[in-house]
Amino acid sequence: MTSAIERRELLKAVYEEARGCVRCQLHQTRTQVVFGSGNADSDLMFIGEAPGANEDRLGLPFVGQAGKLLDKLLNEIGLERADVFVCNVLKCRPPGNRDPQPNEIESCHGYLASQVELIEPNLICTLGNFSTKLLRGDTTGISRLHGQAQEQMLGSRAVRLYPLYHPAAALYTPSTLEALRADFHRIPELLALGALEQPAALPPVPEPEDAPPEPEPEPERTAEHGAVPEPSQLGLF
Ligand code: URA
Repeated sequence: MTSAIERRELLKAVYEEARGCVRCQLHQTRTQVVFGSGNADSDLMFIGEAPGANEDRLGLPFVGQAGKLLDKLLNEIGLERADVFVCNVLKCRPPGNRDPQPNEIESCHGYLASQVELIEPNLICTLGNFSTKLLRGDTTGISRLHGQAQEQMLGSRAVRLYPLYHPAAALYTPSTLEALRADFHRIPELLALGALEQPAALPPVPEPEDAPPEPEPEPERTAEHGAVPEPSQLGLF
């Protein structure tokens, strides 16, 4: 069981790693990594596709028109951005907002897996095809799956996965918006179900008897001695 403080620190460490990531070609064209933002202790996580131009510029996910719609739908069910955690399959913007490529999704998957492992959400809303297909490990499209919650193992965690249309797809198609809104309004009842029963943890691997002693922890740095700054674009609440 990770405490809220430990969780935050571990998430910041993953963010620091992602910030310098050169695992795929997108590092050459990004302005900055868009790791994700929100409440790291939330039961509810949203996963979109990839940052667009606004997100790349500001370093935060869903800050453009699609983000405004996401905020509006959250407000309709009594939530705001600070109540949930929002991130994307890709942490860097594909040039010209083209679709994510398989090698990019693969390179970035570890960051998303760490986010899920650390945040421990009960309910994950995948927004659109890319996150839905990745998390389900299947090619079934969003129009067949939206609004149907399912149980899914992600790493060692059992979560409720709830595929939704991507807000960008709903911006200009009234019928998609209507479906997205109807699905969104079922989120509170899914959240009220709480966490799924988790599989029993594996027994700890015994330490070898001659294991070297743990290194001393580094002394905490104070502001005077260059405290680690709170990364503003991480946007944790
Ligand atoms: N679309 C996404 O999928 N993610 C964003 O962050 C913005 C738009």
